[in-house]
Amino acid sequence: MGALVDGFGRVHTDLRVSLTDKCNLRCTYCMPPEGLEWMPAPELLTDDEIVRLVGIGVRELGINEVRLTGGEPLLRRGLVDLVGRLAGLEPRPHLTLTTNGIGLARVAQSLADAGLHRVNVSLDTLRPDTFVALARRDRLADVLAGLDAAAAAGLTPVKVNTVLIRDVNDGEALELLDYCLDRGLSLRFIEQMPLDAQHGWDRRLMITADEIMAKLTVAHELTPVPVRGSAPAEDYLVDGGPATVGIIASVTRPFCAACDRVRLTADGQVRNCLFARDESDLRTPLRAGASDAELAERWRAAVAGKRAGHGIDDPSFLQPARPMSAIGG
Ligand code: SAM
Ligand code: SF4
Repeated sequence: MGALVDGFGRVHTDLRVSLTDKCNLRCTYCMPPEGLEWMPAPELLTDDEIVRLVGIGVRELGINEVRLTGGEPLLRRGLVDLVGRLAGLEPRPHLTLTTNGIGLARVAQSLADAGLHRVNVSLDTLRPDTFVALARRDRLADVLAGLDAAAAAGLTPVKVNTVLIRDVNDGEALELLDYCLDRGLSLRFIEQMPLDAQHGWDRRLMITADEIMAKLTVAHELTPVPVRGSAPAEDYLVDGGPATVGIIASVTRPFCAACDRVRLTADGQVRNCLFARDESDLRTPLRAGASDAELAERWRAAVAGKRAGHGIDDPSFLQPARPMSAIGG
């Protein structure tokens, strides 16, 4: 087996698969209010194509962790069956899903039964009016119901992803932490990144890792958890543990040197970085009859050319053409 290794010796074992670019929310840091022009259906990988590519990933390329994302992955028809097929791959990957939580209450148990190990649910606020301001839809109750259902279905540890935006929800850091601590959910704050479709990112609106720490340590003692490995979150024990809180400081404390992720978009393009400016087409050769070995080789070449880092602080930084929702966050 030839693993996915880049020119800096980084080995890629963690695959993010976007199942759709569509979404039922319109988070301001992700999409414009009117949404985006969605990918035409024939361009999307079919279930068979996804299972084939992920199968090549786990058998030939050393992928051992598969995260399903989007857009909103719960909008993909037949998701439970697809999860079942991916869980049936040999060797079996650790299978997780990142979702906004809408509709999760309905499918959490079926997803767990089909072989999903865990979920990450995005939750930026506990206030219905702030939810509408941030996500432009009145769906907070669905998200909270989804979180409860995920925990009840054993999709644990349930991780909660929160993006704080200045003067919108940055006053809620402690409330969100207490909410998660009370329910055994594992909260991680993510610095806002320049990946929105409307290119409206403004560094001054981003709440930095330092600011998040300052907000949390008003009420809690945070001690670093020493082992980080390739995980992007800097984890802290809260008040001595065992509960933890994470901070994903992609902008102010980049973790590119330890990155082990590679992405497959819903239309079959390999991206070696969230911020990559080019991608490698697997769908065209796949549909033209390429063998597993040929597809694996293309995939290796796509990862081999990965850049050292995202370069957000570099004056020449250019935001990628695809927004987060079409890459797979
Ligand atoms: N729709 C699902 C969700 O919201 O969880 C999955 C896709 S979403 C793109 C994945 C994660 O990316 C979410 O936690 C979301 O908050 C985060 N995200 C989206 N745009 C972001 C941005 N500009 N900066 C930082 N995180 C972002
Ligand atoms: Fe949808 Fe997730 Fe983007 Fe929000 S962050 S608009 S839920 S894809």
